[in-house]
Amino acid sequence: MLEINLGSQSRTYSPAPLYQTDFAPDLVIEVTSICDRACHGCYANNILAKGDKATVAKKFPQLFLKLSDLTSNLHALETSPASLSFRGGEPTRHPELHRILEIASSSTPSKKNYLETHGRWLFNDDNKDLLDAIAKTGTIVKISHDSMHELSTEDLKKITDLLISKDIEFLIAITENSYNEFLKCRNDIAFVQNEKIVFQQKAQFDHELLKPKIGVISCDGTLKKTLNSKIGFKK
Ligand code: SF4
Repeated sequence: MLEINLGSQSRTYSPAPLYQTDFAPDLVIEVTSICDRACHGCYANNILAKGDKATVAKKFPQLFLKLSDLTSNLHALETSPASLSFRGGEPTRHPELHRILEIASSSTPSKKNYLETHGRWLFNDDNKDLLDAIAKTGTIVKISHDSMHELSTEDLKKITDLLISKDIEFLIAITENSYNEFLKCRNDIAFVQNEKIVFQQKAQFDHELLKPKIGVISCDGTLKKTLNSKIGFKK
């Protein structure tokens, strides 16, 4: 049994309903290898680039998934995904992410589509197309909230309030080295329901990385077996 501090109340839970650990989409779509942050301990094999999305995409076209490559890869799949995940880098750095969400939603039977993000873009004013596409496709926003991502509790609350106001589903992913570190982080966000919490153990080795059943559509337009990570990266 676990004790968790929910504001003024302290409650005891069985471990099972506290969080989920089985986040395992059938297919991962790595839409870009660009990120606008450089979190200490990040294992994605990214290039850091801030500023205007379209300008960055023009400068590094090879690091952004082309819509035509996404379409051809999805049509060539031998197995249809029941779930999929959009990730990066930071996927919201792709100027056409809204189109990517729509294409994947209309080209696959997947009913569980996740957008894995640090969430800060939700404070920007230029996100209407993306929010509309998320709502239209029923995409679940999976926000990273842990010591690595350094998103404050107050900002996470603002983000979750915004998503709730737009009737958009979300999960909060806490990636930490140990269960105790996870619990500390989880206790800080008592306003989030247990079923929306995902605990992910931080990978130290290649074999601990997520291995999607179907594979990974990489931003270079090829279907790979594993994520583009520094851990697994071989020249
Ligand atoms: S936001 Fe995510 S992808 Fe970007 S640097 Fe941080 S951990 Fe890596």
